[in-house]
Amino acid sequence: MKLIDKVAIITGAGRGIGLETAEKFLKEGAKVVFVDLGMNNEHETVKTLLAQNKDVLAYDVDVTKRDSIQEMVDDVLKKWKKIDILVNNAGITADSQLLKMTEEDFDKVINVNLKGVYNCGQIVAQIMAQQGNGVILNASSIVGIYGNFGQTNYAATKWGVIGMSKTWAKELGKKGIRVNVVAPGFILTPMTEKMPEKVLDMMKGKSPLGRLGTQEDIANAYAFLASDEASFITGAVLSVDGGVVL
Ligand code: NAD
Repeated sequence: MKLIDKVAIITGAGRGIGLETAEKFLKEGAKVVFVDLGMNNEHETVKTLLAQNKDVLAYDVDVTKRDSIQEMVDDVLKKWKKIDILVNNAGITADSQLLKMTEEDFDKVINVNLKGVYNCGQIVAQIMAQQGNGVILNASSIVGIYGNFGQTNYAATKWGVIGMSKTWAKELGKKGIRVNVVAPGFILTPMTEKMPEKVLDMMKGKSPLGRLGTQEDIANAYAFLASDEASFITGAVLSVDGGVVL
């Protein structure tokens, strides 16, 4: 097991890639903090895990609200004394072409995908700096690297996450903190279920591997980067996209 006794906070852990990553981390021996909008001990998976006496905490936190992040972090420290890993996975889309995009939709996506990463990263990095160790993993996207039709706001945040992460890697390395990015390609999750079948088929066709990604593909990448096996990796962007080039 790669993550024995590590304490990991995962944002957006209620479903999709975040939930898969939380389950993978538990399998690898971590204690996992589930963070999401409306998240609590009644969440189906959390309830099952608690009934099995697994090391799980669940918090209803909006990553755009610094107070609620701080309260969650304080409570985790009270209960588990340390934070080893933060996965900034929470993210949203509000797609439309530039000529039709509203300021509200632009701001909404920036607030969650970019400022949310800054909020959680800054608050948790203070703790990791005091500890002298930690790992921060941030969710970018293939769309941040290549751009994508209809995703001005989303692409801007996902490219921004890369710049922010490389900066943190430089600033926090001496404090024992590694910072890396995972850039998924097109992965089958509730987020991509909204996309037209035609587009998903096209993406499948663009991968030399001939398939879309699974949530497990991404969870495996997070588990590796979070583990001591990746102890000399920082400031990196790991594309997990089946070789797709948009
Ligand atoms: P998803 O929509 O299935 O899950 C995202 C989770 O984030 C949800 O549970 C949602 O409630 C939570 N969330 C949204 N706003 C939040 C907020 N303000 N505070 C706390 N939690 C909030 O998405 P997914 O497909 O699992 O994607 C997870 C991450 O991976 C996102 O950052 C996404 O941009 C990125 N990503 C996904 C894909 C893909 O193909 N699915 C590709 C590239 C990158």
